[in-house]
Amino acid sequence: MQKFSFHTHTSGFDGQNTEAEMVEAAIKLGWEKIGFSNHFIVYPGIENTKMYAYAKQGEYNSIYSSTFEEAIDKFIAHYATIDRLKKETGFPIYKGMEVDFFAHPSWREGFEKAVTILKPDYTIGSAHFIEYQNTLYNAHDLKNASPEEQKLLLHRYWQNVRAAASSNLFDFLAHLDLMKKTGLGLGSEWMKEEKATVRTIATAGAKVEINTSGYKFSPTDPYPGRRILKMLATYHVPVLINDDAHKKSALGASFDKAEALARQIGLEVLTFPRRSPKTPFINHGNNQILI
Ligand SMILES: [Zn+2]
Ligand SMILES: [Zn+2]
Repeated sequence: MQKFSFHTHTSGFDGQNTEAEMVEAAIKLGWEKIGFSNHFIVYPGIENTKMYAYAKQGEYNSIYSSTFEEAIDKFIAHYATIDRLKKETGFPIYKGMEVDFFAHPSWREGFEKAVTILKPDYTIGSAHFIEYQNTLYNAHDLKNASPEEQKLLLHRYWQNVRAAASSNLFDFLAHLDLMKKTGLGLGSEWMKEEKATVRTIATAGAKVEINTSGYKFSPTDPYPGRRILKMLATYHVPVLINDDAHKKSALGASFDKAEALARQIGLEVLTFPRRSPKTPFINHGNNQILI
């Protein structure tokens, strides 16, 4: 079974264990390496959104930043801890980040600057929110919206995933169909959006993950589900298997299931967030601006 994960979270952000505790657990499991990918979420005025209030109740609002400076400061401290641990343990630890992509030129500019300062080993592109009418909606808000709004928000969600894929800013994309945890977007009418997204991913040469935390919601399907994984295989899009562990006991969860599924579907599974050697870390290609 695979002995690593590049999608994990620690305390200080929304994980439950420290970097040291996670590394200790990985070594105990006989793992080869680990990558930490805490949330990098920058959106001006995010503290005024409804979802920020839930996060505050759950005490994980520290993952949100209103400015790039704020997010950079959190990562400087976190990456220093990783550097120290690398020296102390000699264990291969990689510095990643799970980034919420927003299709605004000013966001891109801020993010590119952040990357030159922080120098992460890899970046994961994510969409946990839907931007609509100058605010952010999370999965919970989506669930509580009217049926018409739900459709519109879901379309926007997929548009943003495509924009993230073609941005060339990320080594791979996380949990493509995350919004299915609301129970929405599962019908066959959504296959058109999914297919368009897979085509965009293939054209951009992007990679995606099989995120085993999806098995918490469905016994048969990770994120993305089989329907999308089959499309990805058709387009020869490579994948990484990750656990999205927010605590040490979740390291490697359901990797056996995901590996069996990848083999059955015929997906190429990567062992590292592989970046094209020809592409500099930040590609200043055309960004698709949606809003
Ligand atoms: Zn995520
Ligand atoms: Zn995550």
